[in-house]
Amino acid sequence: MPGGVNSPVRAFRMVAGSPLFIEKAKGSHIWDVDGNKYVDYVCSWGPFILGHAHPRVLQAIRKAVSQGTSFGAPTEIEGKLAEIITKGIPSIEMVRMVNSGTEATMSALRLARAFTQRSKLIKFEGCYHGHADSFLIKAGSGATTFGVPDSPGVPPSSARDTLTARYNDLDSVKHLLTRHRGEISAVIVEPVAGNMGVVPPEGEFLQTLRDLCSQEGILLIFDEVITGFRVAFGGAQQLYGVRPDLTTLGKIIGGGLPGGAYGGRKDIMEMAAPSGPVYQAGTLSGNPLAMAAGVETLKMLSERKSLYIELERKGKLLADGIEEIMRSFSLPLQLNRIGSMFTLFFTKEKVVDYKRAKLSDTKLFAEYFREMLHRGIYLPPSQFEAAFLSIAHTEREIEKTIVSHEQVLKKIFS
Ligand code: PLP
Repeated sequence: MPGGVNSPVRAFRMVAGSPLFIEKAKGSHIWDVDGNKYVDYVCSWGPFILGHAHPRVLQAIRKAVSQGTSFGAPTEIEGKLAEIITKGIPSIEMVRMVNSGTEATMSALRLARAFTQRSKLIKFEGCYHGHADSFLIKAGSGATTFGVPDSPGVPPSSARDTLTARYNDLDSVKHLLTRHRGEISAVIVEPVAGNMGVVPPEGEFLQTLRDLCSQEGILLIFDEVITGFRVAFGGAQQLYGVRPDLTTLGKIIGGGLPGGAYGGRKDIMEMAAPSGPVYQAGTLSGNPLAMAAGVETLKMLSERKSLYIELERKGKLLADGIEEIMRSFSLPLQLNRIGSMFTLFFTKEKVVDYKRAKLSDTKLFAEYFREMLHRGIYLPPSQFEAAFLSIAHTEREIEKTIVSHEQVLKKIFS
């Protein structure tokens, strides 16, 4: 396997180490094959908002598996998941299940292009929308971690249609809109960026994007693969009160199994085959095991809306602890957090966009990561990723994490 892994950031290259090989996980913990136990802030890169191996999710998967693992024909449980998604996220009037976030974003873009009959796309520097050609331009996540934000292999013809603006910089968007008036099909954005590390939207950024898109006949796509059912049950669009035309989902809706979805306005979604002419398909789409895990996860999240209050409280507890250390030692760090997703940036400048995120001292980050790991805290092995809390993380574990931060930050800044 290239680099020994099946997804690049797992390789620990940025942190100059070898990856842990994981044997099992439960709640907020993972165990590696050498028997070491860690408090896990990766949560499989986002899906496990309820913690690993939740008994109800496992039970739902067991029940589903006993009836067969795939049929290539419609099932009742796909309808259940569609119902929960469309009720929970009102801008999604119609939804199509796919197998990953990458599939969701590439399919949403195709639909946007067909609907508007325009080719160009605006994305934001440092945002990651999966690995389809159109999005691997100034992309975040592993693409930034490995220094290939513009990947070789993306044909110039694809790259030409992707225009990039700066996150939280509306002037950069307006400039592109004026220059390419009538050519732009969609603006796609992570409504809370997670793939250059966590960068929240500032002020009226999202609402103004909405207004600009409406004025120009451009579709606004919220890529909520991370934020959907994470920052609020209705995603970032609920949190910030902005309604996109299309939304992409992944991670949490698969309950830890491969799952994704795209959805939005009915008049747009009806263009997808077989209702309409825009082709998109999948042998395993709406897979019953993934549907079962997703339905059970979303059911639990909807049964107890107070879970989001609890996640915010836990996130704040952790952030307050880390910020207290940063203040008392005047450390040149920035902690960005929205609810249960956060990133500690190794820079003294406030991080509001990709350029500021990239000012981070990645060598120092690597040292910090290794020292935290040594103390039993498993964080994302890259500066340009979000860390996640789950409902299973206890106050005791959060306090242990804060104590580890204090030891590690004192050590690396001494
Ligand atoms: N969009 C966002 C915002 C993501 O964070 C990711 C993956 O991390 C994707 C899309 C791609 O999802 P997947 O890895 O499931 O293809």
